[in-house]
Amino acid sequence: MTRADILVVDDTPQNLRLLSNILTKEGYLVRQALSGKMAMTAIQAVPPDLILLDIMMPEMDGYSFCQTLKAKAETAAIPVIFLSALTDGSDKAKAFAVGGADYISKPFQLEEVLARVRNQLALVAAETQNQQLSAHLEDRVKERTRQLEIANRELYREILERKMLQSQLLEQATHDALTGLPNRAFFIDRTRQALSAMQADANAQFAVLFLDCDRFKVVNDSLGHFIGDQLLVAIACRLKETLHPTVTLARLGGDEFTVLLTETADSTSVIQTANQMLAAFTQPFQLEGRAVFITASIGVAIGNVKYSQPEHLLRDADMAMYSAKASGKERYQVFDPILHQNALKRLQLEIDLRKALYQQELIVHYQPIMAIPTGDLVGFEALVRWLHPQQGLVSPGVFIPIAEETGLIAQIGHWVLRQSCQQMRQWQDETTDRSLTMSVNLSARQLAQADLVEQIDQILAETQLDPQYLKLELTESAIMDNAQAAESVLQALRKRQIQLSIDDFGTGYSSLSYLHSFPVNTLKIDRSFIQQMGEHSDDLGLVPLIINIAHKMGMTVTAEGIETQNQLNHLRALNCDFGQGFFFFKPLEADKISPLLTSIAHHAESDVKTAQ
Ligand code: C2E
Ligand code: MG
Ligand code: MG
Repeated sequence: MTRADILVVDDTPQNLRLLSNILTKEGYLVRQALSGKMAMTAIQAVPPDLILLDIMMPEMDGYSFCQTLKAKAETAAIPVIFLSALTDGSDKAKAFAVGGADYISKPFQLEEVLARVRNQLALVAAETQNQQLSAHLEDRVKERTRQLEIANRELYREILERKMLQSQLLEQATHDALTGLPNRAFFIDRTRQALSAMQADANAQFAVLFLDCDRFKVVNDSLGHFIGDQLLVAIACRLKETLHPTVTLARLGGDEFTVLLTETADSTSVIQTANQMLAAFTQPFQLEGRAVFITASIGVAIGNVKYSQPEHLLRDADMAMYSAKASGKERYQVFDPILHQNALKRLQLEIDLRKALYQQELIVHYQPIMAIPTGDLVGFEALVRWLHPQQGLVSPGVFIPIAEETGLIAQIGHWVLRQSCQQMRQWQDETTDRSLTMSVNLSARQLAQADLVEQIDQILAETQLDPQYLKLELTESAIMDNAQAAESVLQALRKRQIQLSIDDFGTGYSSLSYLHSFPVNTLKIDRSFIQQMGEHSDDLGLVPLIINIAHKMGMTVTAEGIETQNQLNHLRALNCDFGQGFFFFKPLEADKISPLLTSIAHHAESDVKTAQ
């Protein structure tokens, strides 16, 4: 502990010495001043801890000295003990009034002086400690406040972060990452709201429009998924620009977009919206410097109180969209409850079809194919039939598309192929004419199978049918859908002497010259062209042209669906090679064919004679 520094101010040197001795002995550091002026200089040099101050001094007395001291901030706190010979009480009062801390009367009592000095120093020490403590406390409070502020800021940041994360999660849960549009969940929620609004207010209207791009797969397959994605984003943008801002536009997934109309959903506005959406596709989309053309089909479901769930509106709009596609694409279709009935029926058929294969409900009928110039039987077309236990004979036109969609066509097609190859082999054994061919329809899905050629090899090996008597029929679209794979598969089949026909020619979009790049032997002109031929030879439509070009390209031509003598006459005049149709034979059960095998030549010959 440092020694307390005491300044004694007295004009009497004797007093100074006396006090100095007493205090120094006690261990204090003592400085002396004979006048107020000297004292001031000493204080300015080093402020003491305590001042013992004489009252009666020439020039400046103790009172004014003390007043000066107390008036200055730097010295105001230094305690002053007055020293006076005066015993008058008013003196003491004045001493305290000018800021004195204590008072000692002369002559000095040693003990008293020490006691009062100690007292004052203790007070100063206590005060100093007090100040230190409160300063420390203040610092701690400041520090704590600072920490709290930091913690607060941290908390605030965290809350903000959480809020952001939350809204991000919400955004992710309700929006589509690619286009930024609302997603299915969001759309269903909005539709649910529209539905309850309608239940609350009978005048409320709303409609769901379901848009699906036509042949989007072709874009993805030919230009790649990257461009495909870009196209979806561009479509989203265009639809958004087209639609009124109050309309909810969502992306359900894939190339499917939905729109919820609530503000004005009367039939005129709904149709107007559907048309606007279709019109958004008329201009090509510019992607990576190329123009991509695409169209879309739209299904519309109009809200009504009978709907209990938003998903049902989507289902119906979806169904209407499919119907729009089926009737030619690039159009809209409003949902009709009949569609729903049909869908249910179709679903049942799909279930039944799965069983049909194992329960042997499928059979193959064979339609004879004739050489037109001679009327000779040249072969058969195998046409599958389904003997449904409840519905009777179901046409392949009905169940083949279902089988295609469900993938069941692979097994059905395989079965038909084996069945008809085996049958052909058997008939060849029964007749002397070994040149009869068996035409079998091959679906697009089958053509896409990687092991198709192996399957066919295996069937031919098992049934012992010479490949040159097998003729596979493919539609234009089956080839176009698999253009890349088709090329090599068809080459492989041709290498085995298997013949190839284009079925239903004229109903697809392909050009003859393009098809010619595939190794095809025969062109089958679709029935619709044959049936459109009029009475006169200047009214034959496209048939003469098709036959002509096909021949120039080295293909033979088969006319499908010949029903009249007149049609046959025209076709014969046009040098059409082969024909099939009800005019000759309907597709027949296998056991009806055997008896014909020998008599057919005769039948056809007499037919040729009648025609001439
Ligand atoms: P397609 O290959 O063009 O077969 C010819 C269709 O025309 C057959 O219909 C046949 O019965 C019918 N037809 C033949 N002559 C006439 C006629 O003079 N007038 C009329 N109105 N129709 C005639 P079907 O048997 O109903 O087969 C329809 C389609 O189902 C076939 O068309 C073919 O695309 C498909 N299909 C049939 N069987 C199979 C099969 O085993 N596999 C595959 N993938 N498709 C098959
Ligand atoms: Mg066919
Ligand atoms: Mg056909």
